[in-house]
Amino acid sequence: MLTFSRSILNEYMPGKLYRIKTTMANSNLSNKSLRPPGGRFSRALLWWNRKSNTRSMPWKGETDPYRIWISEIILQQTRVEQGWLYYERFIKEFPSIGELARAPEQKVFKLWEGLGYYTRCRNLMATAHIIENRHNGQFPKEYQQILNLKGVGPYTAAAIASFAFNLPYAVVDGNVYRVISRVFGIAKPIDTSKGKAHFSTLAGELLNRKNPATYNQAIMDFGATVCKPQAPLCNTCVMKKFCRAYALGKTEILPVKSKRTSIKERWFNYFILRYGNRVYIRQRQGKDIWQKLYEFYLHESSKKLEVKQIHDKLSAILPESSSFQVTRISNVHRQKLTHQHLSGQFIEVVMGKPLADKGEFELVPFNKLKRLAFPKFIISYLQEKNVNLSQD
Ligand code: SF4
Repeated sequence: MLTFSRSILNEYMPGKLYRIKTTMANSNLSNKSLRPPGGRFSRALLWWNRKSNTRSMPWKGETDPYRIWISEIILQQTRVEQGWLYYERFIKEFPSIGELARAPEQKVFKLWEGLGYYTRCRNLMATAHIIENRHNGQFPKEYQQILNLKGVGPYTAAAIASFAFNLPYAVVDGNVYRVISRVFGIAKPIDTSKGKAHFSTLAGELLNRKNPATYNQAIMDFGATVCKPQAPLCNTCVMKKFCRAYALGKTEILPVKSKRTSIKERWFNYFILRYGNRVYIRQRQGKDIWQKLYEFYLHESSKKLEVKQIHDKLSAILPESSSFQVTRISNVHRQKLTHQHLSGQFIEVVMGKPLADKGEFELVPFNKLKRLAFPKFIISYLQEKNVNLSQD
């Protein structure tokens, strides 16, 4: 009888025929005889990488830890096609960590504008300062030190450690979860700490320790181009002969997630309060989305404000006896974030008097807006208005 005490890979000794009693409860997909792939997996992967992997990206093969770090932070929640352009812009503008550390905050935010998930950008700046000031501008070379950097989790630390320093740490991202869960027929949820630990241990044991950089890049490329989330290329796949998901027709259900993401619906009414040639804006603070980005006067409501409510709201905001005119109400703008769906409208108002108490707002000429970083939601409105947002 098979025991699981020493390592997960004990389940998968190559060439040996095991009979494993499995149920969905213990998370392997079949109770049939299983001839596990073991070392065949890594060999097949590296063979595919040598013969067929044509995926090209500007950071691929890069060994400079600074550049790898920039690319990995950009790619944390961004598709490769979108991240590519931002990566090239960043490296051009800040070719070294010192230049990034010394850059004004708004300049970095402006370069990040449109990428979303701005915590990444704030962490990037914080980490650049730490490396510049505490590590003499030298990127740390040890996994644990890399992992201690702000905004760097186990995946990013493994990517930097292996690509820059060829250290034997396996990357585990969405591609890796998918490939491993399908090939090995593992139905443990990838969004639970138990499931994550299981996949992470298995990924570490499958890693080719002689060449972790090539192996790590290969498994991610394989997941992105062959074992894709939808319509994987099973017919021509090098893993087809031993892939459990393929054998059992389960490619569509793997990998498994335990929870459904709960989505919050939000409605944003943005008042474009214009006085002469200037408009009121403020920098967002607090723990909400878009921290430190700029925005117009915001009134959040549970649903769209109707014309009467808009006028009531304006009467409350604007100075007493001040005249105002609503000149335009935009179409509804929408944006989907991971946990939030945003809808909103932009209400353009010409004011007869400036605000009596402007609080945290500043009155800024329209032609200065292009120097500031706004969330994508607002950029889509400004672009609709043909406001020039490219920097001088
Ligand atoms: S056979 Fe299909 S499911 Fe299995 S590894 Fe290949 S592409 Fe992925």
